[in-house]
Amino acid sequence: MGMIYLDHAAATPVNERVFEAMKPYFSDDFFNPSAAYLPAKKVAQDYEAAKAKIAHTIGAKSADLIITAGATEANNLAFTALTLDGSCPRIFPHVAKAPWGAPKLGHPSMLYLETEHDSVRRVAESLGGQPIRVLPSGLIDLDDLRNKISDETQMISVALANNELGTIQPLSEIAQLIREVKLDRMKRRVKTQLLLHSDASQALNLLDINVARLGVDLLTLNAAKIYGPKGIGALYVTHDVKLKPLAVGGGQENGLRSGTENVPLAIGFSKAAEIAHGHINGNRKKYATWRKILLAELDGYELINKKRSLDSFVVICYEGLDAERLIFALEEKGVYVATGAACAASKGIRSHVLKAIGLSESQIAGSLRISLGETNSEEQIYQAAKIINQVVRAEKERING
Ligand code: PLP
Repeated sequence: MGMIYLDHAAATPVNERVFEAMKPYFSDDFFNPSAAYLPAKKVAQDYEAAKAKIAHTIGAKSADLIITAGATEANNLAFTALTLDGSCPRIFPHVAKAPWGAPKLGHPSMLYLETEHDSVRRVAESLGGQPIRVLPSGLIDLDDLRNKISDETQMISVALANNELGTIQPLSEIAQLIREVKLDRMKRRVKTQLLLHSDASQALNLLDINVARLGVDLLTLNAAKIYGPKGIGALYVTHDVKLKPLAVGGGQENGLRSGTENVPLAIGFSKAAEIAHGHINGNRKKYATWRKILLAELDGYELINKKRSLDSFVVICYEGLDAERLIFALEEKGVYVATGAACAASKGIRSHVLKAIGLSESQIAGSLRISLGETNSEEQIYQAAKIINQVVRAEKERING
């Protein structure tokens, strides 16, 4: 039996149809969309159509989308909506000075969920943001959020689905709370903006995302997690939110993301988004079935992500065992799983997410993240469960002598 890849939350292979759709834009249709001749204009049209397609999958318009080089950049760009005085900043399409200077705020003006991906957490920390606690289930502690919102709060960032647990946050409820706060501020003539940002990197092929229904002002998307190419993503921005560019140059993407448009990757992203959008229900059913099979076949684990999780995520703990050792032993048998976020795992850092939900050091040390995906089959799931059981048994025997 070949490799059984169970780490789709870290990376997904590019879908064959996505690959085919991209190909012409690397060769025959290589033109710069800003050029004046006809073939370039056709490429510009294709690029716009691709953006419109991506926007359509989240119930938005292409004018509301800024294509970026991935979710990290989109998350960083989202935070440029923060200003010193709390008001909306102007767009500077052609500013000469460095555009991105962290505003030195006297008090925290933004809140972020403590389980956010580092591309949110680290920027938020650098801006003096305050973390919102999660409950042991991984879900947001709404009371903590309520208590921490002040008249200075300008932005709240909560990922739609967590990348280590798959936990789906109740964004509509958060948006409703924000509406109430805004109404109260209006009555008291407090003019500070209050925006809701969500990182939906992990969710586009598993949840039917609609920006209006979710009530978000800013939403991050990532092609790399939905069988599209790496290095391309997007930030959805409600029309009245003003951002500052991270880099200045030719003024592409409405001045907010200068640099020649990456047409092939954008085409790939749109194809991947289209395919993902068309398969949400099928994907959910399939992964829910496989998740059940895994949970029934595996022995002696503690399930960590019990509540409101993406169906493709199975996080389990073998307390007393070392997950790193399990991962190496599993790799030798062709099974690829993770301990947590790939970037943290490669640096040997303990998961801040598992810590936040209250797991002990030994529980964190013994936790595995299995993320199911399109490279899998039902047969592989049974086979993986068998191999994991064998490896866990062998590791227990080794420890117990
Ligand atoms: N946000 C989430 C939730 C993610 O899972 C990831 C990738 O792992 C990112 C952001 C960063 O994406 P990228 O590395 O493509 O910029």
